[in-house]
Amino acid sequence: MRIRPMAGRRRWAAVAAVLAMVVAGLGTASASADPLAAAAATPGGAALAAAGLGAEETALVRVQLPNAAMLDQLVAAGADIATTAHAEQGRVLVDLVLTGRNLAALVARGAVLRQVVQRAGDGRARYAASVRAAAQRTKAGLQPKAGTGPTASATASTTDTLRFLQAYWWVSQERTFLQTEATTTATEDPDVEITVTWRTADGTTGSFPLERFEDAGVYMYHVALPQPLPAQPVEVTATSSLGGSTTTTPAPWPNSTPPPPPQGYQKDFVDAYLTPVDIRARIGRLARQYRDLLDVIDLPNPTQGYRRTATGYLGDPATAAVIIESVKFGSQGMNGVQVRSVDPGAANQPLSARYVDRELTISLGTDATGAVVSTTDDVAAFVTAQYPQRFRAYVENGSAGAVMPVAGPSTLDDGLHAPSTVPRAPWTVQALRIGYHRDGSRIGVLAYSQEHAREWAVPLVTLEFAERLLANARTDPGTRQLLEDVDVFVIPTVNPDGANYSFYDYNFQRRNMHDYCAGANRDPRNRNRWGVDVNRNYAAGSLFDGYFGASTSCLSDVFAGPGELSEPESRNVVALADAHPNIAFALNVHSYGGYFMWPPGAYRVPGRITLPRPPADQAAFFQASAQRIVGAIAAERGTVTWSSQTGPVCDVLYSAAGNSADQLYYDNGIYAWDFEVGNPIWNPTTQQWNSVGFQPPFPEAHAEALEYADGLVELVRVAREYAAAAQRPAA
Ligand SMILES: [Zn+2]
Repeated sequence: MRIRPMAGRRRWAAVAAVLAMVVAGLGTASASADPLAAAAATPGGAALAAAGLGAEETALVRVQLPNAAMLDQLVAAGADIATTAHAEQGRVLVDLVLTGRNLAALVARGAVLRQVVQRAGDGRARYAASVRAAAQRTKAGLQPKAGTGPTASATASTTDTLRFLQAYWWVSQERTFLQTEATTTATEDPDVEITVTWRTADGTTGSFPLERFEDAGVYMYHVALPQPLPAQPVEVTATSSLGGSTTTTPAPWPNSTPPPPPQGYQKDFVDAYLTPVDIRARIGRLARQYRDLLDVIDLPNPTQGYRRTATGYLGDPATAAVIIESVKFGSQGMNGVQVRSVDPGAANQPLSARYVDRELTISLGTDATGAVVSTTDDVAAFVTAQYPQRFRAYVENGSAGAVMPVAGPSTLDDGLHAPSTVPRAPWTVQALRIGYHRDGSRIGVLAYSQEHAREWAVPLVTLEFAERLLANARTDPGTRQLLEDVDVFVIPTVNPDGANYSFYDYNFQRRNMHDYCAGANRDPRNRNRWGVDVNRNYAAGSLFDGYFGASTSCLSDVFAGPGELSEPESRNVVALADAHPNIAFALNVHSYGGYFMWPPGAYRVPGRITLPRPPADQAAFFQASAQRIVGAIAAERGTVTWSSQTGPVCDVLYSAAGNSADQLYYDNGIYAWDFEVGNPIWNPTTQQWNSVGFQPPFPEAHAEALEYADGLVELVRVAREYAAAAQRPAA
């Protein structure tokens, strides 16, 4: 099913224009006066002060935006949005990574800080704490605990007609929730108000408003967050301010329970966060332990490795400076190189340089009076031209045209902080292949995780899943049957370089380590803003095909890269799928937010033209399989993935141009789903849904691993039944 190429390389000029505008409004460089002071006068300012977030401190926060337009601006500006917006009381809830200064700017414009989910900088400590806790549990001999296991009737209306898209109830952790989505035929009227009234069997009633949800300027539906109810609702009625009304009986969600695990079923194989080095060791151990069941596949495209060029400022960036950068990586002998500029102390000297004993000395040019006349531009151009194999130099932003100061020595450094146990070399990404018949004769299922570096829980999900299959194969007939009939592939970490950076340098790192920036954007102050978003680098429905939800900016957290499949990380996923055409199912595991999604995952704007929707039989299969898998996830600790967050990516989350699920579905004919593990958690005290974040305290990540591994096992069951069924919708 090949859909490429679509409409060529149509760039979306409007996005660029809005982006320029909003970045100017939010950017650190242009922050005028003191936005923190300005914000302090607003109601949100107090919350900001209470959060104690410094102006340049970065954090993951949950913010309530006053309107959808502000969200649209943030999206268009390439803001680092962690989870999608939830409509709530006329406003929009969104999680995003930003600095205190940017937060203050948002607050000054009417946003309200709701939760500081996680701060930057505690990555290394958090990893170490999880390892220490694991060691203590082992010492104490604590054993891991075993797991526990709508028909709408529209009525005539005066002005508009309402229809329920969803009306579901569920029980999660002993509380009952109701979620509804409804549409009005008055799609163009932004002022239509829809209210849902519910009734329980004992006659208790209540009501709540739905919020209009528009996406890319197109009316989608009205929706509200799941509402806590005292008991199961037996009837819900939606009424519109225009007079429309409809009533239905809410259905149970997901209405599917997996078979209970048999006696002696083994689970719970992860007891701390795992770095790429830990994951490699785990794969090695599994390969030795389960020789008959497991192959380790080295994927063909080595990554850049956890490496960076060495850089340093010559001069003072506050006044005048040139950025000197090594051509080779810092770990290739360039860390520690010293650079200085000197006054020759004589008249009419030309600009010159020498590089001796790992020290670059730049002798500045002088005029007839002996005054230095070389500018920063002269020095940058000279160094780059003189040492093409060794150095590149750039004028620091704001230093153009300045006379080059006498400065240094300054030391070049790659700025990487991981211990020496993390190799500074290209990394071979590994896949596990699990099953009794690893010859292509059985239906294949692929689970892959950590395309995004900061999502620490996701390799725990896929490794827990893999080890569970391996450990139970000999003792559990059900698992044995799955591995007789299914060929399972697992890539625990697609993006190990970025993951290392997330653990040791900047915990909110999402992308890989490949810096495509040029000129002053290579300023080391941008070190946490480089890299390619691996899940925007694929070829189906890509930015380069004109799809929305990726950026051409090398500093954007959704940077698509210089071209489709430019990155070894994305090529590895495609290579594995291409080499094993028996793979018919795939699950792309991300965090966080509690979503279960499938294609299409991208649209073009304007018009919100999605990639082709799956035909009806496939759509039904995606949905039915999803409900089984959501049911399996819920069996672990009662975490129910919301009905509103189960569906096609572009309908329930956002448009993500060039994502891997679309790649596998449209180009490889694979049923390709996405998890966002880490469901919101209801806080009964505040009556709010709280976000869990990318790197929750380990017990939460552990619980996510167990429950979503249950979901992956259910996917293998789905695949086995699919292969056995005579009639099935072909993807
Ligand atoms: Zn992700």
